[in-house]
Amino acid sequence: MVKDKIKALAKAYKSEFIANRRHLHAHPELSFQEFRTAAFVEEKLKSIGITQIEKKADTGWVALIEGKNPKIKTIALRGDMDALPIVEQNEVPYKSTNPGVMHACGHDVHTASLLGAAKILYEIKGEFEGTVKLIFQPGEELIPGGASLMIKDKALENPRPSGIIGQHVMPLIPVGKVGFRKGMYMASADELYITVKGKGGHGAMPETLVDPVLIASHMIVALQQVVSRNASPKIPSVLSFGRVEALGATNVIPNEVKIQGTFRTLNEEWRAKAHKHMVQIAKGIVEGMGGEIDFEVRKGYPFLKNAEELTQRAQHAAVEYLGADNVVDLDIWMAAEDFSYYTQEIDGCFYRLGTRNEAKGIVSGVHTPTFDIDEDALEIGAGLMAYIAVNELKS
Ligand SMILES: [Zn+2]
Ligand SMILES: [Zn+2]
Repeated sequence: MVKDKIKALAKAYKSEFIANRRHLHAHPELSFQEFRTAAFVEEKLKSIGITQIEKKADTGWVALIEGKNPKIKTIALRGDMDALPIVEQNEVPYKSTNPGVMHACGHDVHTASLLGAAKILYEIKGEFEGTVKLIFQPGEELIPGGASLMIKDKALENPRPSGIIGQHVMPLIPVGKVGFRKGMYMASADELYITVKGKGGHGAMPETLVDPVLIASHMIVALQQVVSRNASPKIPSVLSFGRVEALGATNVIPNEVKIQGTFRTLNEEWRAKAHKHMVQIAKGIVEGMGGEIDFEVRKGYPFLKNAEELTQRAQHAAVEYLGADNVVDLDIWMAAEDFSYYTQEIDGCFYRLGTRNEAKGIVSGVHTPTFDIDEDALEIGAGLMAYIAVNELKS
């Protein structure tokens, strides 16, 4: 059985997967600067024996593993490679050696797992039909998102995959388990930058001024109607303002107020409409109260939809590989992920790899300075991904 073979290989190579992950963890690079990481990936792919490797988007790679009858079908597997501007606080032998940069989102795990899957799949390439396309992408953490650049650079062409599989570490799920969700899964994320301009002056003489602080306050409250009244209750939406800057004093009304926020939702049509609603409402309030407004919507990643059938098959493969007790259903997650760009183009399945181990104190969330994983997850990260690919090529 190919499943048992993959399991045995994942187990046999586990220490190598861990070594690769530790190397990547110790040498993190920021988004779109993954030069040493890309060189490491290239070297590892070549040492596996993979020869069809093509550079994409400066620091990304696309590589092909051909099975029997390679033209029959192609499935893509994706890993992201960038790290975050965070000072690592873990005291571990593989601690970051690049000051101020840390693999705090587990992209070291995704890259090492994809390299592991590649090693396994190359070894069993006589046992599946079709082609596996490996996509190592840069810059997941930074707009415009490495995925969008990889697509522009034709990562999904020649051959065009029927679907794409991605995985992400999840410190809420215990190691040994994985999570899936069909349909709407992660949110689009847009950044909002608003300046409300009035006329500042002495706080004792408001009748001679246009107070941007009061105007901004009304505007913030009014904007919530976009979520509570304009949004369909069937589509999750969130509007949050995390920064309001009015640099006056107890007796000084400033000339302007600067506001920053985020808008997230799970429907592209509604997302575009919501942008218009927000600008319209804000403009109406601010101008109606005598002020002026500058409202910039900086578009981030689209929402992430997991294709129903592909995800169903992948989840089924995970149940076969790990047992039903180790495959959990996920809830909607309002964070964003640039894997969504692929899912706008072709069927996609983005699943979660459990990395938590309370007994070992491994509980920190992603994007924190103490984030780490239980490295047992790598055996699953590599093996399960290889099995999902083989299973998909069978269908
Ligand atoms: Zn992240
Ligand atoms: Zn991430």
